[in-house]
Amino acid sequence: MNYRHAFHAGNFADVVKHVCLVALLRGLTRKDSAWFYLDTHAGAGDYDLTATPAQKTGEYRDGIARLLSAPGPLPAALADYLGVIRPLLGDGDSPRRYPGSPLIAAALGRPQDRLVACELNPLEFEALQAACGGAVHVQRTDGYQALKALLPPRERRGLTLIDPPYERPDEFTRLAGELVAAHRRFATGVYALWYPLKDEAPVAGLKRALKAAGLRRLLVTELRLTPLPTGGMLHGCGVLVLNPPWGFAEQMKAALPALARILSPDTGTATVDWLVPE
Ligand code: SAM
Repeated sequence: MNYRHAFHAGNFADVVKHVCLVALLRGLTRKDSAWFYLDTHAGAGDYDLTATPAQKTGEYRDGIARLLSAPGPLPAALADYLGVIRPLLGDGDSPRRYPGSPLIAAALGRPQDRLVACELNPLEFEALQAACGGAVHVQRTDGYQALKALLPPRERRGLTLIDPPYERPDEFTRLAGELVAAHRRFATGVYALWYPLKDEAPVAGLKRALKAAGLRRLLVTELRLTPLPTGGMLHGCGVLVLNPPWGFAEQMKAALPALARILSPDTGTATVDWLVPE
């Protein structure tokens, strides 16, 4: 487990993922009844963009910093995402910190909602505990085990974010099996699965496996900085959403193409398509 999210915090992929996260939780918040949030691969929770890892890669400059300096008006989902994270970016004209998914979810949690974040790396886990305070129940457990242990939740409604580091060669294959099994335990839950676009073959395999398993209401959102992979480099990312709340697809159709043009003005594109509809 060498992956450290501090090198990538606030990059274009985080922005795409977290725009989706905010819109999905907003969808669940339309009803007063409590929701459950499970973050299977939570990271450190809060990242210092002035520290060495973020400064070394500078990835946030082509992500959150670009969006912050984009001229308005922005599509509603982008404006909403910025409104949620802005208080967590630190003072000053440019962002000094960037919140991870557990802190963003906590910002949207109400007293009745319940949030659990899992992180396996001991150092990231310690940082996550410190970042979350009491707002999120933090566990040092395998996120895949947590799917088995915590679903279905007693609230009977909720969002599970699955955001692994893709260090293992079999991660895509494993994900398909884990998602299908989780859906069997909690069929009405909303699931969001982030994946990198480097090599298209494993992504196509994941989509084929989920379709073959008979899952329905599967929406695929993808954003590409450049149209084609260039030598196995990360050129885009996707968020696959199972059971998206009402209106989510339309919000993303309005937001992601605009975000792609902001992040990559000459070659950025985005698509929002049902892999399997109702
Ligand atoms: N979701 C976070 C966010 O959006 O801010 C970023 C998470 S980062 C991409 C993936 C994290 O998963 C890393 O911090 C890594 O240590 C952790 N991790 C790796 N394998 C894990 C596992 N099996 N269970 C839980 N966490 C794991």
